Amino acid sequence: MSPAEQSPSALTFDLVTRCTTTKARAATLQLPHGPVQLPMFMPVATQASIKGLTPKQLEETGCKLCLNNTYHLGLKPGQETLDAIGGAHKLQSWPHNILTDSGGFQMVSLLELAQVTEEGVRFLSPHDGTPMLLTPEHSVSLQNSIGSDIIMQLDDVIATTSPDHARIEEAMHRSVRWLDRCIEAHKRPESQNLFCIIQGGLSLELRKVCCREMVARDTPGIAIGGLSGGEAKTEYCKVVDTCTGLLPEYKPRYVMGVGYPEDILVSIALGADMFDCVWPTRTARFGNAITNTGTHNLKNAAYAYDFQPVEEGCKCTCCRPPSEGGLGITRAYIHHTTAKETVGAHLLSIHNVYHLLEMVRQAKTSIIEQRFPAFLKAYFAKLYDGNKTKYPKWAVDALRGVGVDLMIEE
Ligand SMILES: [Zn+2]
Repeated sequence: MSPAEQSPSALTFDLVTRCTTTKARAATLQLPHGPVQLPMFMPVATQASIKGLTPKQLEETGCKLCLNNTYHLGLKPGQETLDAIGGAHKLQSWPHNILTDSGGFQMVSLLELAQVTEEGVRFLSPHDGTPMLLTPEHSVSLQNSIGSDIIMQLDDVIATTSPDHARIEEAMHRSVRWLDRCIEAHKRPESQNLFCIIQGGLSLELRKVCCREMVARDTPGIAIGGLSGGEAKTEYCKVVDTCTGLLPEYKPRYVMGVGYPEDILVSIALGADMFDCVWPTRTARFGNAITNTGTHNLKNAAYAYDFQPVEEGCKCTCCRPPSEGGLGITRAYIHHTTAKETVGAHLLSIHNVYHLLEMVRQAKTSIIEQRFPAFLKAYFAKLYDGNKTKYPKWAVDALRGVGVDLMIEE
């Protein structure tokens, strides 16, 4: 049934339920380090660590797959150390799954002097300024040393907001050629799953061409890349909707760099399964708590005397009372520590990561129970305190396109 069976693959995709209204799906993805449930949010552990969290604390959020950055691990500790210890799972004592990016995006976004040629991405070492080159072959080799369960192809990433259509088209075709080189270079297809990345900017025509080319190469999973770069959300939704309409049903679909709660939920409705974002941990460092009623800044003076948990009813380690094995942290404590102690940010990171994982878990349960449209309506109603005039138009329009009208009560 699954076309993935024809090519080397280290995963199986078991479709559990299809939503009968939207394009949402619930599935179980069997990976080398255990099964994960789709849809899924994946927190980002840039340097093989989620800032301030121990692997055990990350595990307690229910996370079964986190991201590592190839670019950062390739620089430090470096490939030799990774080979010596036997990969990133051992380095960070993480028994569950890891996904690594190709390293290309970090380079192009972090290093001003990075230059893309057919050979690869040329850049100057941030350590000593020596010229370096990241090729598709080198990216895959680094990811083979990291030993991640899901590895990403090196792609040619162009900002979706770029006005240069010719460059976007070139980048899309080059990404297809680089995928071929990645497949050729991949040494461990029996234990690491290579995902292709659909490019093509905001052009639906280019995205369609890219989907056809990438799908023909039959990788175990498929990512939709180049989004979340400041494009209008309406355009974002059109790209995701168009791509999921062309992708094989029995493979995981990963939208890279997403995101905010509404973005994730709408993307699930459009048929996407996997998401990652640094936002929950990054925003925690500014004292922001992600909750069902929106994102609240606990540095605000109003929280100095607020002795409730960060989010009422939340089952995370930070919010649960000691009588239930949690830490019983209050908003006042976060308010007190965030400005001067790192522990406030660490505790909020636990809550924020848990919050997004739990939101997606609940979405999955609602898909299985065929009440996902009602779940979406309840979620938006709570987030905007019942005020429908505040609902973002792009979300209302995108969900209408898949049969859910947020403006009509259940
Ligand atoms: Zn919590």
